[in-house]
Amino acid sequence: MNWNDEVDVFSANSAKCPNCASNIFFNEKIGRLVCSFCGGIFTPETLEPVGYIEKRDIDEAGEEENNKQEFVCDSCGATLVTDYNTSATFCAFCGSPSLLGRRLTKQFRPDLLIPFKVSKEEAISNYRQWLREHKGVPRAFSESATLEKITGFYIPFWLLDADCTTMVGGTGQIDNGDNTIANFFIDRKIEFHVTKVPFDGCKKISDILMEAIEPFNYDDLVPYNDMYLPGFYAQRYDKSALDMLDIIGIRLDSYAQGLVKHFSASEYSKITTSSVGSYADNFSQLYALLPVWFLNIKYKDQTYSIAVNGQTGEASGSLPISKSQVNVNTVKEVLKWLPLYVGVCAVFAAAFSILLIGKASYLTGFLLSLLMICICGLTVFLPFVYKRAKYTKFNQSVTIDKAPGVEEYIDYSGKINMEKKDIFSHMSIKVEHDQDDLSMFKLKKRNTLLNYVLKKIFNDNSFS
Ligand SMILES: [Zn+2]
Ligand SMILES: [Zn+2]
Repeated sequence: MNWNDEVDVFSANSAKCPNCASNIFFNEKIGRLVCSFCGGIFTPETLEPVGYIEKRDIDEAGEEENNKQEFVCDSCGATLVTDYNTSATFCAFCGSPSLLGRRLTKQFRPDLLIPFKVSKEEAISNYRQWLREHKGVPRAFSESATLEKITGFYIPFWLLDADCTTMVGGTGQIDNGDNTIANFFIDRKIEFHVTKVPFDGCKKISDILMEAIEPFNYDDLVPYNDMYLPGFYAQRYDKSALDMLDIIGIRLDSYAQGLVKHFSASEYSKITTSSVGSYADNFSQLYALLPVWFLNIKYKDQTYSIAVNGQTGEASGSLPISKSQVNVNTVKEVLKWLPLYVGVCAVFAAAFSILLIGKASYLTGFLLSLLMICICGLTVFLPFVYKRAKYTKFNQSVTIDKAPGVEEYIDYSGKINMEKKDIFSHMSIKVEHDQDDLSMFKLKKRNTLLNYVLKKIFNDNSFS
């Protein structure tokens, strides 16, 4: 039997929630039916409840929250929460100085918080250090006046726990060392538990940017207390965990595939995997505020966001592409269009030499004409290439770091199960791919901790 058969894809748009009788919908990313009204999660086959994401409605602020206020930005609509003695003078998201202070309208009750450990000066210095790794970034990104605007935010995060089950398929290759390769179909079912995977609940801040400055060290989590607020700004969540099930599902799925890669790294010399079905159970969530230094820089009609982890000091962000990269792009553009350009010129030169010079001195005439036409043509060619290179310049930015891998959030104390039904497919002749060998080497070298733990759990020497 293939694992595929176990996942009954069910799309009951009309099913009713057993808890509250609202309509429930199939979410294919977590493989479950979800009630967006009460937060219930159910199996498609039996409508058994298998999880629950606490639905938090933001109620009106109560009397006990009178010690806080909120600011609303006139131009972008961002809202910030501060204690009564901390005021905001400009909007950290759009730079506008017109902020309207008012009483807290909606309740603000996080469960937990990690206090700031990194000062503003340290955040700026970490950012500058990170900036030095990227050569040729415009001056605007290092000017002190700009960096002074870096703002300390407590960003709302949902910390999610879940039991995950995924059926992973793919192909694996074993190099026999004699110019032949044995090819296998990978067919595995894997169960694992993840704990406190963070998802930012703030629309104004990029999810990718927040993933880039993970991980946070959860040892510093403390119950939320107003006394941490003075001097900083806080955001109230505007995306609930239920709103983010797709993003959550995608990340859990990538973690399952990551685990299979770890399991298989020493069994196969090369693997490609894809997930063929997954579901998650036993969701639980915590609402935590995590400390982030945040800065938006406007440059040539684009906004670049910078973030520094307020606990670990890790800096990341988007930057316009560097000058050296622009030069590389220009050379690439020239090389790309040069054959076409010379070809077109050659056609003109051929026609020109045949018409005007005659067949006797055909070759000399052709070469002379080609040279002349190419030189004249540069007036068209060079501006064209320049325009293309400039276009690339502002349509690319430095890639932000990736989110941490599964090793960061897997629950090592919980169960990790894997059932394996890989089967042999065929033999093939070896083709050299240096790059693949290199990426496998990196895969093995990274996550030695995970391999160590897997080895302990399975008491198996194949994870070395
Ligand atoms: Zn319901
Ligand atoms: Zn604003």
